[in-house]
Amino acid sequence: MPSEFDLIARYFARPTPQAVLGPGDDCALLAPAPGMELAITTDMLVAGTHFLPDTDPRQLGWKTLAVNISDLAAMGARPRWVLLAGSLPKADEAWINAFADGLFACANRYNVDLVGGDTTRGPLNLCVTALGEVPVGQSLRRDHAQAGDDLWISGEPGLAALGLAHLQGRTQLPDALSQRCITALQRPLPRVALGLALRERQLARAAIDVSDGLLADLGHIVECSGIDAEVWQAQLPARPEGADPALARQCQIAGGDDYELLFSAAPEHRAALAALACELELPLWRIGCFVATPPSSASTVRLLDENGQPLPVTHRGFDHFGQDDR
Ligand code: ADP
Ligand code: MG
Repeated sequence: MPSEFDLIARYFARPTPQAVLGPGDDCALLAPAPGMELAITTDMLVAGTHFLPDTDPRQLGWKTLAVNISDLAAMGARPRWVLLAGSLPKADEAWINAFADGLFACANRYNVDLVGGDTTRGPLNLCVTALGEVPVGQSLRRDHAQAGDDLWISGEPGLAALGLAHLQGRTQLPDALSQRCITALQRPLPRVALGLALRERQLARAAIDVSDGLLADLGHIVECSGIDAEVWQAQLPARPEGADPALARQCQIAGGDDYELLFSAAPEHRAALAALACELELPLWRIGCFVATPPSSASTVRLLDENGQPLPVTHRGFDHFGQDDR
């Protein structure tokens, strides 16, 4: 039976060219570049809550890291270092090997070094802390949206939630679509290049990554920024063919796990954003706008039909503890 230290040395200790000191001491040592702020985030993935317990370990390794890198992308930060705290039920080396493979595939793709962590026995639970750099004062914060800004989203929101519905037997997708949706669920691609370009070219004011659902996460931007938002249903991306239209629409507006970027941008940047979408080969959709909140009202998100009439929304996204609706 390998020891804790055998497991770390065998599966998690890799070269860390971006660190002053990587795994093996009491702390890692990191040196952010001058003029940079550190963006730091941590996200836990719990078996049974965030992933199905029989999820392929390679895909789980990818996703555990990807969801954290997505938070850095949403701030316009450049990912650099990560730590991994894992609690594992047993030292199943085939499982750990595949998990590490997926994790390092993601680490290599996004150019981050695994610089430390903690490895214990217990119920399956994986927690990554990710650190990135962003020039001082330039991050894409949730509280910077302004009335008059456009509302944009990247990619194909809703695919991951459709994939989950398919895996759980709540819907039956045709083969090609189910593959696409399951890949979106299990192997999300954090929008790092988009976040960096939005920040470097000063195209976006506020951004968030959609992990809990489009309307729910948009709710965080409006609350933090003290304004309202309108989402125009007719401008949402086309629903994928072959899926139940009502479910597909529901997954688009309230499904989580897509890790697309939702952002606010001044209208003068529309052409630059269209050009950026071509450059990154990533669709960017202008799906609404931000407007002033009426005096003494709380910030709200409204879903509007093509005539500008509010549509009823029964479910906005996922909340671990509360009501699903905000
Ligand atoms: P300490 O007891 O001082 O906290 P540990 O014994 O927990 O240190 O870990 C030993 C070294 O291995 C530390 O440098 C830690 O960061 C690293 N480490 C532990 N688990 C992991 C892991 N899963 N991935 C990468 N590094 C790890
Ligand atoms: Mg420790």
